[in-house]
Amino acid sequence: MRIYGHFIHGREVPAASGETFPSVAPMSGDILGYAACGTEADVEVAVSSAQEAFAFWSSLPPARRERILLECANAVEAHHDRLLNLLIDESGSTIVKARYELLYTPSVLRAAAGEVRRLYGDTLPNEKPHRLSMVVREPVGIVAVISPFNAPLALLAKMAAFPLGAGNTVIAKPSEETPLIAVEFAKVLYEAGLPSGVFNVVTGCGSECGEPLVKHPGVRGVAFTGSTATGIKVGHIAIQTLKRLQLELGGKNPLLVLGDMDMIKAAEIAAVGAFSHSGQICMSSARIIVEAPHGLTFAHALAKKAASLYLGDLRDERTAYGPLINQRAVEKVFRHVQLARAGGGQVITGGNVDHGLVFQPTVIYNPPRWGECWEEETFGPVALVTEVSSLEEMIAIANESQYGLSAGILTNDLKRGLSAARQIRCGAVHLGTHSFQSDPMAPIGGYGMSGIGRSGGKYSIEHFTELKWISVESGETSGPF
Ligand code: NAD
Repeated sequence: MRIYGHFIHGREVPAASGETFPSVAPMSGDILGYAACGTEADVEVAVSSAQEAFAFWSSLPPARRERILLECANAVEAHHDRLLNLLIDESGSTIVKARYELLYTPSVLRAAAGEVRRLYGDTLPNEKPHRLSMVVREPVGIVAVISPFNAPLALLAKMAAFPLGAGNTVIAKPSEETPLIAVEFAKVLYEAGLPSGVFNVVTGCGSECGEPLVKHPGVRGVAFTGSTATGIKVGHIAIQTLKRLQLELGGKNPLLVLGDMDMIKAAEIAAVGAFSHSGQICMSSARIIVEAPHGLTFAHALAKKAASLYLGDLRDERTAYGPLINQRAVEKVFRHVQLARAGGGQVITGGNVDHGLVFQPTVIYNPPRWGECWEEETFGPVALVTEVSSLEEMIAIANESQYGLSAGILTNDLKRGLSAARQIRCGAVHLGTHSFQSDPMAPIGGYGMSGIGRSGGKYSIEHFTELKWISVESGETSGPF
């Protein structure tokens, strides 16, 4: 059985404690390998490496960083099949979802490479006649990237690529559910020419390995993607040393289905939004708000679609969904279904475990609009369908959430759709499709309890650079003394 190390300064190193933990495939239960169990001592080594690399990496001409990131993108494509297979096994992804991550990853590296040449500054109009004022951007330093399990390659790549492009060095701490793919990714980048220490990976659990990383005074930025509860904890720690902070957290995303839609077509689109990766997507369309009188028609169409989704081998192209990540996740999803049922919701299809960690795609009509199932993220294949009589009320319900990550609006009426899009309080609103959309150049992030800051494109670059005002006095300097 393969034993993996952390990836620090261009090579795999064992944990200082010598401890390891298993990475288990959620579909088969097989142990795929053992990862290094990181602690403060390992974080210390990674910080030294990233510090040493920072001086070199941050002073490289942008064109060099651009070229290296482009080489990294090519290398990910060259290692496609190996990464794909590990991704399927370790994260329980279907081949279709894993392929998407393998398309997105080089794409985001290329997008970051493009941003490297756009690290523009400013010259400012002055109050003083002989002063030239410039504003330049500089990298913040070492950025800790703490990533979740659900898209362990694509998200890690996105969270790291833009800070790297801006001249920062990165220490990544992937989810303890998916440590191996992160180490393999780091190796691919290193072999493609990313210098030692520029991108390091320490593996381990949140409290033992993640916390010391966020605490470390040598780390100047934190990019965190994960649950809101953990994000708040991480934010508390990071603020003690005033780190630059980006938090991409949970959601309970609304999908509005307006009355002019063909309900069969709307259900097809909604099924992708709700059941992709078994609902383990932060932008999953979890609350579907349908304009009256179409609620029940829509719910039955969605239930029919849900029941028809193919479940087979994860490598079978027809397979539409797979397992949840662990038993805790299964129990949470089941609890939410039970709560919705107890509150009067009608479970039209699903509602139970299929086998192992696989939960049936579930449609619940008219769930109670209160309590854990409605208010909290389920992160499973559960679509809550509610019928509402006016667009105003649909918008009000969409906004009736602590979260504000992403929304979708299905309509052919651009005027009503756009009006709703402007009123929904979310980081993204997608007209004509469901709430689960991504683009390397788009600002991803949320309102309210869905996070702080935006990642992607120029927005990440802005987040992980410091602004410095430099002035040049060319006249006589005179003052009161
Ligand atoms: P999680 O919060 O359990 O863990 C996320 C990461 O934080 C992991 O690497 C974990 O080890 C680490 N961590 C845990 N405790 C920590 C601590 N005390 N200090 C430092 N690090 C710690 O999340 P998860 O279950 O891996 O992922 C699912 C969550 O991620 C969902 O809530 C989902 O909505 C969210 N998510 C958000 C986005 C987005 O773009 N907004 C994208 C994907 C996932």
